Amino acid sequence: MPLFDKAAGKPRNLTHRELADLIAWPDAKALFAAAYAVKVRETGKKVSFRGLIEAGNICEKDCYYCGIRKSNANVNRYRMDAGEIVREAEWAFKAGYGSLVIQSGELTGAANAAFFEDVLGRIHAFGGDAFGVTLSLGEQTEETYRRWREAGAHRYLLRIETSNRELYAKLHPHDHSWEARRDCLRALRRCGYQVGTGVMCGLPGQTFDDLASDIEFFAAEDVDMIGMGPYIPHADTPLGKDAEWTAEKQKERFELGLRMIAATRLYLHDVNIAAATALQALDPEGREKGLLAGANVVMPNITDTRFRADYQLYANKPCLDENSTLCRECLKRRIASTGEEILWNRRGDSPHFGKKNAK
Ligand code: SAM
Ligand code: SF4
Repeated sequence: MPLFDKAAGKPRNLTHRELADLIAWPDAKALFAAAYAVKVRETGKKVSFRGLIEAGNICEKDCYYCGIRKSNANVNRYRMDAGEIVREAEWAFKAGYGSLVIQSGELTGAANAAFFEDVLGRIHAFGGDAFGVTLSLGEQTEETYRRWREAGAHRYLLRIETSNRELYAKLHPHDHSWEARRDCLRALRRCGYQVGTGVMCGLPGQTFDDLASDIEFFAAEDVDMIGMGPYIPHADTPLGKDAEWTAEKQKERFELGLRMIAATRLYLHDVNIAAATALQALDPEGREKGLLAGANVVMPNITDTRFRADYQLYANKPCLDENSTLCRECLKRRIASTGEEILWNRRGDSPHFGKKNAK
């Protein structure tokens, strides 16, 4: 197919229209196969694991789509203590995961900065730089980002959510700023992180043009990693409370998530792309299908099961009561079924970041 060949030939080789056409390509299977071929060429038939710790659900922000937004009074709030986070990190290290993601609701201020600085120092003490640490703790000052980088974090994931500023304004209260979020991505780059961003796909009012612009945004900001996934309504949120959610919609939304992974792989080639947990919430084989559409990273949840039900960003979150060991075994089987090999005990850094630094 000429458009696939053009995209696969060189990164960023499509016009805006071509990119939008690619996302909406009529033959989804052919799109996924073309993206998978580029993934195999760029990163091999290999998958990196990141153990995901959901460190707390207390959030200062009020994003209209998110189940743990501060105004949702139906959430039982928790925050893990430092020892708990470090214990789970050590489990992931010993289980051979090679990397970790610490995610939580957004908290700012000096005490929060010091808390994670301490956690990072303790993780670095046993993992050193051989154990990759990704943070996803929201918008912070450049000073805080720098402190966390110096304490041992290597990567940071901050989704822009949508590159369309008008759409962003409809999804967030007035005091949430798209520009501030974009500037955080730039501050992270200055601090030396591998920088990740992403969007939700299937947001109300979002078009294929918007999604093409999202991928162009990833390119313009020259990010190293992408973590994106389908938007899934949550009944206790302003955006999700009246959402019509049918089996048909769920199927469509899932496929859109895969289409975005595939188009991003075909456009950017050498970035790390995660098969988001939200994919698995929509399809029991969601993550495997994500890998076969061009993703190369999976983030098994290693959070203690007693916290998992309280970290519900959207409906039908998977693996709520499956402990980390079971989760590891289940994923091993699932990944084997795709013919992909797990990169045990490796950080699995973004090839794009490596190439930039080698220059
Ligand atoms: N608080 C940090 C932040 O917002 O960057 C990190 C945690 S936040 C829960 C991680 C991501 O969850 C957000 O960037 C957003 O894209 C995603 N998310 C929130 N609500 C969602 C929903 N209803 N469906 C799908 N993804 C959702
Ligand atoms: Fe808080 Fe992140 Fe949810 Fe927004 S998406 S409400 S910042 S946890």
